[in-house]
Amino acid sequence: VQEGLARIIIQRDGEVFYNPIQIFNRDLTVAAINSFKILAEKEAQKGTPNSSKTERVGFSILDALSASGLRAIRYALEIPGLNSVTAVDNSTTSILEIQRNIEVNGVTAKVDYVYDDTVAFMHSRSREFSVIDLDPYGSAAPFLDAAITAVKDGGLLCVTCTDAAVWASSAYPEKCFALYGGIPSKGDYSHEAGIRIILHAIATCAARYGITVDPLLCVKIDFYARLFVRLRHSPLAVKLLGQSSMVVYTCDEGCGSWTQQSLGSAKAKNHETGSSTYKFARPTLNAQFSTGGRCLHCGSRLSLAGPMYAADLHNSEFIALMQKTVNGELGKPLRTRKRINGLLVTVKQEIEFGPFFFLPNRLAKVIRCPTPPLWALQEFLLQLGYTSGRSHCRPGSIKTDAPWHVIWEAMR
Ligand SMILES: [Zn+2]
Repeated sequence: VQEGLARIIIQRDGEVFYNPIQIFNRDLTVAAINSFKILAEKEAQKGTPNSSKTERVGFSILDALSASGLRAIRYALEIPGLNSVTAVDNSTTSILEIQRNIEVNGVTAKVDYVYDDTVAFMHSRSREFSVIDLDPYGSAAPFLDAAITAVKDGGLLCVTCTDAAVWASSAYPEKCFALYGGIPSKGDYSHEAGIRIILHAIATCAARYGITVDPLLCVKIDFYARLFVRLRHSPLAVKLLGQSSMVVYTCDEGCGSWTQQSLGSAKAKNHETGSSTYKFARPTLNAQFSTGGRCLHCGSRLSLAGPMYAADLHNSEFIALMQKTVNGELGKPLRTRKRINGLLVTVKQEIEFGPFFFLPNRLAKVIRCPTPPLWALQEFLLQLGYTSGRSHCRPGSIKTDAPWHVIWEAMR
């Protein structure tokens, strides 16, 4: 099989398999790592302390659950200037495949393979890798702790979770809570809520080590979630995690509206020297929560979702860099670039807005009116002084900074 610049030999009925649906994921990751590398190099030139530490020992990638070695080989061939890629797998069949594929592609000098348990291996390599790619079949939750400790300060963690039935539906709330520490929501924005729950799991895990997460790009693709987050050692930033976490009262059985409750309160005081100090307090309860368990807008029963991450899921500077990378301005164009471009354009305008979105057709059902066209609604909101955009999670959705009473007014 030829994919990107790599050519791999697939064993027909062995344990190792090739999943063509994942080409998009791998292309996206090649673009993301290339963009991250450029970002880190830019910072190193400016002399940001975090990244200069990274650059001193070279750029290294860990393909933590390697299977065929395809990812590791593509990184070696398609990410210019990297020093080493390590492919880890705990199956002897996989290791033989990886070994053969490394030779076929002539990358023995750059790609190293290790036969080991992934978690044990990562625990033994504290702050060693510039990038760790976790792409398991199922949940990445069991690998997070070890991965966070093995990423360098200022490094990149790439996480796939394919267990959407757990984090994006109401089928297994107990499993979601056990794996990710949050209650999932159901319905329209359940995937966005799921991404936020996974991110919260990463952030709380990292916070125990004084490490803070900076989400660069966190998206839902087909049936799975893919998150690119930067990890930095910052005991101060960790204290702000409560403020960027929330629980949500969601009307996911009715109109789809929601109410947020922040889990932290921090008042910043900026000093003349340019630094800031914070005064922390317990959050006060959102008054809109006292509705007797019923939705303010449609009277349906409310559910609790979260805790989950409440702040931005993407970084605009990083997305701008990715757009250049994908289109070959900074390298070879990727096969799935059209689809990646479409995704990047949508997520770029998501950044302006807070969590979640509404579906006009659902609101129309509640107030028994015909569904207005999306553009007409957006135009109306704009006239009232509010901006709006779309969500990559759901076609026909609107993200807006307008409060609920304005959204209802617009619908009527
Ligand atoms: Zn409702």
